Amino acid sequence: MVPPEPAPSLPVLREPVRAYVGLGANLGEAAATLRWAAAALGDLPDTHVLRVSALYRSAPIDCEPGAPPFLNAVAALSTHLSAPQLLAGLQQLELAAGRQRPYRNAPRTLDLDLLLYGEGRIESPALCVPHPRMHQRAFVLRPLAEIAPEWAQAADQPWLAAQVLERLGPLQG
Ligand code: ADP
Ligand code: MG
Repeated sequence: MVPPEPAPSLPVLREPVRAYVGLGANLGEAAATLRWAAAALGDLPDTHVLRVSALYRSAPIDCEPGAPPFLNAVAALSTHLSAPQLLAGLQQLELAAGRQRPYRNAPRTLDLDLLLYGEGRIESPALCVPHPRMHQRAFVLRPLAEIAPEWAQAADQPWLAAQVLERLGPLQG
């Protein structure tokens, strides 16, 4: 009897997805860390960086009194990773940058939040997209609108003007 042909092992093909990542840091060499992280996002498997916003400085929100200001940016990616795979990659980069979580909202060397994953909507404790607090935060919406003009109106809401946010210039030289 002829043995059956082994099933060909085909790679899983997935259309690339446009994802947006919020970068933040308020501990250590924050600007250098964000520059490193923006480049490192393009080293994640099957992922490349499409655009990176300018660098912004924001006053801390929901942090202890005296917490240092944040530097922020947003990056647009094209990725074949699933959303959980991408989040795992972001968390590895946070760890590589020395991220510790001694208590909630502690100062951080690097925070990478998955803001949007295509049109995806996920609501689990480990991963929520769109990011549940992104619509309230000028430091997310303004840099996002720079690289994703469809967010311009959301970023222009007058009530966001109360949040201290300064555009410092290009993140990448
Ligand atoms: P935060 O960014 O809210 O200050 P952390 O970076 O410590 O806090 O993240 C806390 C948890 O939030 C992580 O363990 C992660 O699993 C979860 N999480 C849920 N949705 C997201 C998302 N869209 N991006 C990043 N982390 C998320
Ligand atoms: Mg985070």
